[in-house]
Amino acid sequence: MCGIVGYTGFQDAYNIVINGLRRLEYRGYDSAGIVLENVNDKLSVEKTKGKVDDLVDISEQLKGIAKTGMGHTRWATHGVPSDRNSHPHLSNNGKIAIIHNGIIENYDTIKTMLKEKGFTFKSETDTEVLVNLIQYFMDINPETEFPTAVRYALNEVYGAYAITVMHEDYPGVLVVGRLGSPLAIGIGEKEYFIASDASPFVEFTKEAIYLEEGHMATISLEKGVDIRTINDNSKIEAEIQELKLSLEQIEKGGYEHFMLKEIFEQPKSVHDTMRGRLIVDEGVIKMAGIWDHVEKFKNANRIIIIACGTSWHAGLIGEYLIEEYARIPVEVEYASEFRYRNPIITDKDVVIAISQSGETADTMAALKLAKEKGAFIYGICNVVDSSIARITDAGSYTHAGPEIGVASTKAFTAQLTILSLIALKLGNHNGNLGNAEFMRLISELDAIPKKIEEVLNTTHELTQNIAKDFISATNFLYLGRGYNYPAALEGALKLKEISYIHAEGYPAAEMKHGPIALIDENMPIVIIAPKKGHYDKIVSNVQEIKARKGKIIAVVNKGDTQVSAMADYVIEIPETSECFSPIVASVPLQLLAYYIAVYRGANVDQPRNLAKSVTVE
Ligand code: GLU
Repeated sequence: MCGIVGYTGFQDAYNIVINGLRRLEYRGYDSAGIVLENVNDKLSVEKTKGKVDDLVDISEQLKGIAKTGMGHTRWATHGVPSDRNSHPHLSNNGKIAIIHNGIIENYDTIKTMLKEKGFTFKSETDTEVLVNLIQYFMDINPETEFPTAVRYALNEVYGAYAITVMHEDYPGVLVVGRLGSPLAIGIGEKEYFIASDASPFVEFTKEAIYLEEGHMATISLEKGVDIRTINDNSKIEAEIQELKLSLEQIEKGGYEHFMLKEIFEQPKSVHDTMRGRLIVDEGVIKMAGIWDHVEKFKNANRIIIIACGTSWHAGLIGEYLIEEYARIPVEVEYASEFRYRNPIITDKDVVIAISQSGETADTMAALKLAKEKGAFIYGICNVVDSSIARITDAGSYTHAGPEIGVASTKAFTAQLTILSLIALKLGNHNGNLGNAEFMRLISELDAIPKKIEEVLNTTHELTQNIAKDFISATNFLYLGRGYNYPAALEGALKLKEISYIHAEGYPAAEMKHGPIALIDENMPIVIIAPKKGHYDKIVSNVQEIKARKGKIIAVVNKGDTQVSAMADYVIEIPETSECFSPIVASVPLQLLAYYIAVYRGANVDQPRNLAKSVTVE
């Protein structure tokens, strides 16, 4: 998530940091900030909610004052986007400044401890806790050097981070650390750069060190780059790499398109969605949004899920999940239909709105209507403090990180993850899901990121090969049953959106009520047929297709024989509980759509006529 830029050298740090932040804008962010060592070696901070241009408006006086500094573009995870929550954050004594990408999971416990020691907090962020923890370690033993204090503090936190820290009493020194979020150090002639990726410094140097997981570095002109392990301070030999990528390639993390990058980010984004919420060792799901209002859910007459597009497909899977495990009736509505059909809503209804951007105009309008009628409104959004997030009574952010490709991929699997957590949590709480089954399911869910990773590895090349055979297709059918019926709808939508091939998703059994008339040797049919979930019925459907010579692309579990024997193309995915199988099955379908579109020469990241955030009705 978001962007970090740091600099120490002979050039104007302000220009390097501001231009660097602009280079990282593609990552998506909601606020920006800068800190520079001023002429008296004091720290000057400016930060604001908004864009880098807004930061420039309030910080131009800092131009030319410093040769060392750092800047940040924030994508809020803890605390709304606001001036106060923007980075950098200063320690209580004003001497230490930090910028951070990621999430400190145990920030709450540390914050309580620091408050007991007299520390105060200006922001709601997890980041401000870390900078004060560094100060705390220097306070309790004044002999402790600044980089050592950073190391001590990092040993106390868990979560994901890339950080850069400066200390007023250590001019020209930048301390960086990394666990889970990326960080690159650019090595110039008498200058060093730090950035989330190499794009901010590629014009100045082609030499870079990519900091490894669990490593930190102290960087200064005087002593160069000193890399250590965070846990035991062992010295690490720096491995300097020659940058060969173009600027654009770097922004996309070496992937050809943002969409492909985002497909590949899913092991991490699904993990991030569960981070701090699913604690398998303790056998709990911690979701404040649900827990604080659990009685509302428990006593609800029904839950109405409102969404559009991909989020609506996630909602359909949410219906299956919540009805199966929590036994609460669920209806799923297109926001645009719901709002215009004079729906019956009472104060005993809970409405869940799903929107990646949190700005979807139809969903927003439908929510307002439900709110007026007294329903309790719960939001599932990816963008923190978006309009929908602001008007809901409670909610859960998906924490998938900024999604730039217009066709949603990682936001969809993150939505499914949140809906799974909600269903399991509610079911276990209201007694419909016993402890043993709950434990089994949460361990399954916990293993999903690994399974996505496996699918990415095993199907990436395969989907490219399959895609090549369908470049000229004019129609596609996608079929699935149960939980994988909405996954079929989503698979078809992905293909339509980016390749402009007409595609329809259907519940497999519905095929015989109409679409079967379309099937001949020219019709490709993607069929999602994992072992768990009406497999025998699917086998019959596949036979019916085979008899009409349709081209079958089957998504099956590893080791499948029956469906595989009839299919023209077989995509294997690892087995999981039926309720989570759409998360895993969606991944090869995203890849298939992506490669068909790429081979047809389409603009995958910005398909014609579509917008990322649909703010019109
Ligand atoms: N968790 C931090 C915050 O909410 C950092 C977010 C980011 O990666 O920008 O401020």
